[in-house]
Amino acid sequence: VYPKPDGKLTFDRASSVFLSGTTHEENQPPHLVLRDPSIPIGENLPLYGEPARLYCPAGVYEVVYADEAKKTDPRFVINAQNCVHCKTCDIKDPAQNITWVPPEGAGGPNYAGM
Ligand code: SF4
Repeated sequence: VYPKPDGKLTFDRASSVFLSGTTHEENQPPHLVLRDPSIPIGENLPLYGEPARLYCPAGVYEVVYADEAKKTDPRFVINAQNCVHCKTCDIKDPAQNITWVPPEGAGGPNYAGM
């Protein structure tokens, strides 16, 4: 558990992704592919708390529950449109289950404000 971002030295992930200017074409082929779609919920969640939802700097991966309070029926959600292409998930997934490939041309962050 980390302290909440203060907006001066530390920032929330959604604001940082917005500043990166990340965009992708609608309906492009998936650039984040699961070798086995059952592993995030079947293995990574009970063993490691599904670390992709924590290490991804862009908040691409989420575990969503049908009932958040009771933590029932978890689903693994990939918000690929937010990906800033750091390739961490390809390297760090405990089961080596996530494959990152380059997006279509011009997709990704462009850091227009830097
Ligand atoms: S490449 Fe980086 S930003 Fe994209 S989904 Fe993987 S960890 Fe997240």
